Amino acid sequence: FQRIVLASRPSGEVTANNFRLETVPVPTIMDGQVLIRNHFLSLDPYMRVRMDDAKNYAAPQALNETMIGGTVGEIIASKNPQFQIGDKVIGMMGWAEIGVSDGTLLRKLDTTHIPLSAYLGAVGMPGMTAWYGFTQIMQAKEGETVVVSAASGAVGSVVGQLAKLRGCRAVGIAGGAEKCAYVVNELGFDACVDYKAANQAGNLAEQLAAATPNGIDAIFENVGGASFDACLLRVNPFGRIALCGMISGYDGGDMAIQNARMLLSMRVTLRGFIISEHLDFWPQGLKELGSLVAQGKLKFRESIAPNLATAPEAFIGLLKGKNLGKQLVRLIPE
Ligand code: NDP
Repeated sequence: FQRIVLASRPSGEVTANNFRLETVPVPTIMDGQVLIRNHFLSLDPYMRVRMDDAKNYAAPQALNETMIGGTVGEIIASKNPQFQIGDKVIGMMGWAEIGVSDGTLLRKLDTTHIPLSAYLGAVGMPGMTAWYGFTQIMQAKEGETVVVSAASGAVGSVVGQLAKLRGCRAVGIAGGAEKCAYVVNELGFDACVDYKAANQAGNLAEQLAAATPNGIDAIFENVGGASFDACLLRVNPFGRIALCGMISGYDGGDMAIQNARMLLSMRVTLRGFIISEHLDFWPQGLKELGSLVAQGKLKFRESIAPNLATAPEAFIGLLKGKNLGKQLVRLIPE
């Protein structure tokens, strides 16, 4: 089967040369283990951070090892009584067509009402990230204004829809007219600022002000840098910031903030969080997200790369905003 390993660490922007596609033999499973055919691989921004050898909340990705990654798939051989052939499962099998697991961190999935791939997106880690930041950190009340960056993405799209369900004014920030139209017309946000167009016109602050006439009560920050800085200027007294990601800096971009004084003058609460450290919330959050998706109240889109060999290109695209919605890689023929 095929797998992709980290061949070298990037210096600055990731390139395809940082990865290597390998063909390796299918292992023989031992007692307690299962063999999984992965159907979808999730590509996520955190992978870029792990490719560096820098201080972080988790250890760096090892060189010449299968790239880390969340997967959904199907059990194709089992020597573990808890899993039968045909069971659909979610796990961390990495950038590979086949995975072996002893069952630890492997969870069976019910695909009756929810498509398998959604467990990597709206009903998976990104959805939980949105749910946790929104319910536990932003604590937005009805009528308040919530702003989320990378609004059309896997996490951001869920944040805005949760905000709408809560009766908030939901404002997105996204790159490009197509993404903004999707955020407003399909996801139901009240407004979306196209930061790329605004940066070109030099009027990001004005556009954000027009979209947030009552200021901003809670920010869900996915990007960092200039758009975060612009949001800080609009934050209301006792605003809350869920600091979730700073993707504009992962590949070496500028992360400078000019308006940090607003944190003090507006008595803001800012909390960074890592969703994998809050597993106790997952059953409740996933239940809520799953029922919203099953009822059609939580919408999502996916960008799907066609096979494992195209994963590096899709990943580089994710870091440049080429994806619309959750970026996945298909690992079995359609
Ligand atoms: P998305 O599906 O939102 O895809 C990434 C998006 O980020 C791109 O589509 C692009 O959207 C935007 N982006 C990429 N590069 C830049 C850039 N240089 N400047 C501005 N925007 C950029 O990814 P996710 O929803 O999976 O993740 C969103 C954020 O959430 C990331 O920062 C990620 O690290 C973070 N995260 C944090 C977790 C945690 O536990 N704290 C868990 C999961 C995710 P656009 O075209 O609109 O710019």
